[in-house]
Amino acid sequence: MAKKIIYLDNASTTAVDSAVFGAIKPYFTDKYGNPSNIYNLGQEAKKAVEKARKQTADFLNCRPEEIFFTSGATESNNLAIQGIVKKFKEQNPGQKPHIIASAIEHPSVLNICSALKRDGLAEITFLKVNQQGFVDSKDVNKYLRPSTILVSVIYANNEIGSIQPLKEISKIVSNNKKETGYPLFHTDAVQAINYLDCSVRHLGVDLLTFNAHKIYGPKGIGVLYIKQGTAIAPLVYGGGQEKDLRSGTENVAGIVGIGQAVAMIKNPSSCALKAEKLKSRLINKILKNIEEAKINSPQKNCLPNIASISFKRAEGESIVYALSEKGICVSTGSACASKTLKPSYVLTAIGLSPIAAHCSVRFSLGKYTSIKDIDYTVKVLAKEIKRLRGIAGK
Ligand code: PLP
Repeated sequence: MAKKIIYLDNASTTAVDSAVFGAIKPYFTDKYGNPSNIYNLGQEAKKAVEKARKQTADFLNCRPEEIFFTSGATESNNLAIQGIVKKFKEQNPGQKPHIIASAIEHPSVLNICSALKRDGLAEITFLKVNQQGFVDSKDVNKYLRPSTILVSVIYANNEIGSIQPLKEISKIVSNNKKETGYPLFHTDAVQAINYLDCSVRHLGVDLLTFNAHKIYGPKGIGVLYIKQGTAIAPLVYGGGQEKDLRSGTENVAGIVGIGQAVAMIKNPSSCALKAEKLKSRLINKILKNIEEAKINSPQKNCLPNIASISFKRAEGESIVYALSEKGICVSTGSACASKTLKPSYVLTAIGLSPIAAHCSVRFSLGKYTSIKDIDYTVKVLAKEIKRLRGIAGK
């Protein structure tokens, strides 16, 4: 029998739910039509795409016409930011727009902002966060300029779980909205979808990003909600799919998968409660059984499934390898950062020294996590950290 895996890396990706897999399968084999074709096989695929668009719109409390399918959250974030800058430039040649983003955005937001700045296409202000990882909404007010066209703040951080005050920020942005419609407000809600209220009306956002693979759906499919009337230009040209904003034959199976995955999120607050109990158990047991462990995630206003923890004198990478040998999956920082040797910019932004950041591990729980998984993980972790500290001879 295959060794059982204890998967505590749900912020990286999740297992596809069997109901989602069941819904997707026919679109690879029997219902393989191209939605652009007028014969029945094509129209069957088109209907499936439109059903998923409606499921997604119902979940976000918006209109189906405001949902755009992409290849994932990285593309959604790039389309939101680059598409808005491009449209602004088309309509205002020679003017340089300004963007505000938090310093702890996902790299798919940070890196496009930095590239726009490098290429002289936009000015960027990155908002600092405090030691708990929160943006101060007053800073948004402080840094808004007449040329600000976009504010982009992540709903909940993928490394430490801090939940940003989006409603406060959206109020500030809308109070400063000009006749031109600027500034716009975008959020990357990837990590929030399973647990938080993602009604775009409630949040007051103009654009919202998420993907399927963090919500028990397939990889390679994402959504960008764009409020009707938002000025945005396409980045990809072709056959005019997705209302001319994102050309390319639709990923029908992926779209069906994301629709089914959001339709299955019925009760985010009860999922949050279950995750919160397991996370408390994990944290309490770690603090009780392992010396010199420090919680980096905030105590309040934190995602219920994410705990970032530093273990003094034990390197994060070594902990990840040691746990992996025992069938336990956790990560250092985010999946994207773990390939580099640089300390996590999120952890250094909240005040950790580079050494403390290197000694950190992120545990992210999911709907399949059990009490047994938590207890076994802490047992193995305590033993392995003792061993690693012994090897280090410290
Ligand atoms: N934004 C956040 C907060 C994420 O956690 C991720 C996933 O790593 C992404 C964006 C990128 O998502 P995708 O893998 O769909 O491109």
